[in-house]
Amino acid sequence: MKIVEVGPRDGLQNEKKPISTPDKLHYINQLVAAGLTRIEAVSFVRADRVPQMADAEGVMAGVPRSEFVSYSGLVMNDRGLTRAIECGVDEVNIVVVASETFSQRNQNMTIADSLTTLAPMIERARHEGIEVTVTVGASFGCPFEGEVPTERVVGIVEQAALLGANEIALADTIGVGTPVDVRRLVLGAQAVTDLPLRLHLHNTRNTGYANAFTAFELGVAALDASAGGIGGCPFAPNATGNIATEDLSYMLERAGVAVGLDFELTTEAAEFIAEKLEIKTPALLGRAGWFPAARHE
Ligand code: MG
Repeated sequence: MKIVEVGPRDGLQNEKKPISTPDKLHYINQLVAAGLTRIEAVSFVRADRVPQMADAEGVMAGVPRSEFVSYSGLVMNDRGLTRAIECGVDEVNIVVVASETFSQRNQNMTIADSLTTLAPMIERARHEGIEVTVTVGASFGCPFEGEVPTERVVGIVEQAALLGANEIALADTIGVGTPVDVRRLVLGAQAVTDLPLRLHLHNTRNTGYANAFTAFELGVAALDASAGGIGGCPFAPNATGNIATEDLSYMLERAGVAVGLDFELTTEAAEFIAEKLEIKTPALLGRAGWFPAARHE
């Protein structure tokens, strides 16, 4: 089980308060020092739609490169992919949304069109030696259409796998999923592909950690999380964010997974960025402390 740190991307992108490029780089350096080795650092989307990500090029130019750390950028279309390639990302995360209304609002494309553009994008990224994750957005539910049929999600998973993705992520974009939904979707995906699965979970309705543990028990390979649990949701203005890296890491370590993060450095990174954002983080481990208390790496 691997944690993908998405704080610099999903954690920041819905926050109104602008964070400078040097502050983002300080934050990413802290995350690397804490032991995170897969970091979704940026998204290559329109600056007028997501101003917080406008400096993606600047961020990627300054991140501490190492053979042990893999940096991902989120892309919605071929233009975004071009920028990601020019920045030398290690991985791209290409989003296909499982709801028609959400897809058209989010990326101005029908689901069918976004699947049509997926093939050449995957081919191009792989040709450049970049690992490709295909994220199925709104897999657990849509803010406009409500329930999203399992067959539609699984159909997209199957197609993305056939087109050569390296990993498939199921995203609970609006934080409505429960463990029953995790089981339904993960088993559905596992029935059509052997590719490693990744889950993107939010703790919007306090089901995030139960969902994460269910995913762990089902053999999901990676979970997205953000240090401190930062990250807003545009469809639930008062909601908390992603599941928190340190809280997830505690639960997994207690389950026997060697996550290997330094939790004090993880919470320091969370505190740094929360102070810059002028928010309070929802994560709990930094308040309660590790158990047993004397644990050191
Ligand atoms: Mg998200």
